[in-house]
Amino acid sequence: MAENKNEVLEMGKTAFSLFSLKIKMIIVGVAIGIFIVVIFPVVALMSVFSNDDTQSDDKKQEGSSSSTSTTITVNEVISSDNMKKYEGAVFPMPFETWDSNKDVVTSKFSPSRTITVNGVVQTRAHTGIDLVVISISNPKICSVLSGKVVVSKAGNTGYGNYVVIEHTSAENITFYTLYGHMKEGSIMVAEGTEVQAGQVLGIMGSTGNSTGAHLHFEIRMNKNSSSNAVDPYNYLFGN
Ligand SMILES: [Zn+2]
Repeated sequence: MAENKNEVLEMGKTAFSLFSLKIKMIIVGVAIGIFIVVIFPVVALMSVFSNDDTQSDDKKQEGSSSSTSTTITVNEVISSDNMKKYEGAVFPMPFETWDSNKDVVTSKFSPSRTITVNGVVQTRAHTGIDLVVISISNPKICSVLSGKVVVSKAGNTGYGNYVVIEHTSAENITFYTLYGHMKEGSIMVAEGTEVQAGQVLGIMGSTGNSTGAHLHFEIRMNKNSSSNAVDPYNYLFGN
């Protein structure tokens, strides 16, 4: 009996190993089958879907950028016919458009101005004029005159994203115009380049030390320093 038992066990083992080999082959076969029939199409579908996602994201980005901002072309120049120039003014308004009935001066040039920025009260000279175009969204800021870009800086302090242009007057006087707080990523001119009158510099924004979207515009005489800033009001609005 004991010998028979062993024989049965031996046979069983052999049968089992053969059987299990078959099962292994079946499992491998089924696994390959499942991969071909189920997993492969699923993976393929997923990759197709993920491509669709990327495409729709791109579309979303395109959509949102076109709805929230104007498309800017580098070296875009706004015609002087479109830029508002007040009677008696030296310069046109530094925007692609200016609606006298809607667009406003929110803060004038002042040797001492007290404002609150982020809950902090500041008293200091306001060396420029704050202009807000509300008649259109995301207005383009334009150089009031041809000149050379001497500063083109992205930042989150002070003037934020700002540009300074050097000009030479007919009397051969060097002066500077400064355009501050432009929208993040909107600066369109590089330092050292020449710009034309009306050339788009960026988009009105609120970067740096700013309480809301506006353009801080400065005129600096002889030297590019805030201590040389003069009141731009009459230059823009006439006497
Ligand atoms: Zn200002």
